[in-house]
Amino acid sequence: MASEYEIVIGLEIHAQLLTRTKMFCGCSTEYAFNEPNTNVCPVCMGMPGALPITNEEAIRFGVKAALAINCHVNLYSRFDRKNYFYPDLPKGYQITQYKYPLAEHGYLTIETSTGEKKIRIRRLHLEEDAGKLMHQADKIDTAEYSLVDLNRAGVPLAEIVTEPDMSSPQEAKIFMEKLRNILRYTEVCNGNLEEGSLRCDANISLRDPETGNVTPRVEVKNINSFKFVERALEYEASRLKGYFEGDKDVIRETRGWDSKLQKTISQRSKEEENDYRYFPEPDIPPVVLTSEYIENARKELPELPDAKKKRFVQTYNIPEYDASILVSTKELAAFFEECCANYDKPKEVSNWIMTEVLKELKDREIEINDAKVTPKHLIGLLTEIDRGMISKSAAKSVLAKAFETGMMPGEIIEKEGLKQISNTDEIQKIVEKVIEENPKVVAQYKGGKTKAITFFIGQVMKAMRGKANPKIVNQLVKEILDKPK
Ligand SMILES: [Zn+2]
Repeated sequence: MASEYEIVIGLEIHAQLLTRTKMFCGCSTEYAFNEPNTNVCPVCMGMPGALPITNEEAIRFGVKAALAINCHVNLYSRFDRKNYFYPDLPKGYQITQYKYPLAEHGYLTIETSTGEKKIRIRRLHLEEDAGKLMHQADKIDTAEYSLVDLNRAGVPLAEIVTEPDMSSPQEAKIFMEKLRNILRYTEVCNGNLEEGSLRCDANISLRDPETGNVTPRVEVKNINSFKFVERALEYEASRLKGYFEGDKDVIRETRGWDSKLQKTISQRSKEEENDYRYFPEPDIPPVVLTSEYIENARKELPELPDAKKKRFVQTYNIPEYDASILVSTKELAAFFEECCANYDKPKEVSNWIMTEVLKELKDREIEINDAKVTPKHLIGLLTEIDRGMISKSAAKSVLAKAFETGMMPGEIIEKEGLKQISNTDEIQKIVEKVIEENPKVVAQYKGGKTKAITFFIGQVMKAMRGKANPKIVNQLVKEILDKPK
């Protein structure tokens, strides 16, 4: 028996497309805050005789997403019916692209701990979303029941299926993050896992490299955060090991991740494809594209994260690590560039964004675009530091205050009395006083213990409540201590 089993993971990702209307009817896709069953019509409610019409915007968004993940877009694709019954699916079938998908053979390159790795993408196809079930527990007669909301029924989805190329839960997480980032850059999906506009199902199995034995493949559903992608797969990888020791519970099935229990739970045995009785959708003509259409969509693509990262390294001469963090969202990248357009120390800007700005955003649980701090604020702050008006440590609290109030750094420094003291005479008086009060440490210093200098600097800063210009304090302490008596 092998000590290390190989982990094999493939992902199926559903991305809700940000079209204004649904996949096959004119109903609005803005369902989240609306009353249940208000964004519906005979088509998305599955009334007999209602005819679907393909939404061109959904096709265009699908093509853009496909190009952004390096897929080949097919000039001919077609919709099929996937037949199954569920209360949130009023037609009794889902319209999806089964046999002829919109796009195939893509890939994304991810950065893993051992270097770059290419994850192949098998296909991207379009389909419609189902409605939502709201499970209720009736307190009066203790009967449980479910309500059906069809506002989401018919919202366009792009389903992206990878090859089983990921060999650790961590790689799966990195892939998901990268894919989300690209979809958001492309503006075809808002990428919100918590709200379900980006959903991830994962297939996982283990292989014993010595015997070649493979466990049954398990599909894990309901993964609604990046943290859970990794956790659910780690849990499942360790559960699957039992198969090699004769655990009869490891079977081919679908399991759901329960974030409260922190474990996966068996849902149902996995359907075979022929259970769905796929056949061509007779009411919708095939999607026939021209090369020109595809090229136009390609022209609409923005600069994608990898290209932007490369450019940042070259243009701003910042480390690759910095660049990869700065391009993690389109908005953060834009914030950085706007700062650099008006302030010529890109590395300094990058340092502040990567540490203090991101920390403030995280503490406040907001995105950069929702923050009261704009590039103007950050440049203002850096300029105050450059002019010696404020120490770096005081600058951090000024930035926090700017995040809180939206006030400009100059105003905050004035109002809070944080102005740094650079007046040499004023500092010299304190330095002389501190040296006079500590003859023992002076003796140690003169005796060769040069590190004692930090004691004096600390005492002076303390006496001046951190407002003294540290450069001048440093210089004066050294000067006065070294002065021959
Ligand atoms: Zn409708």
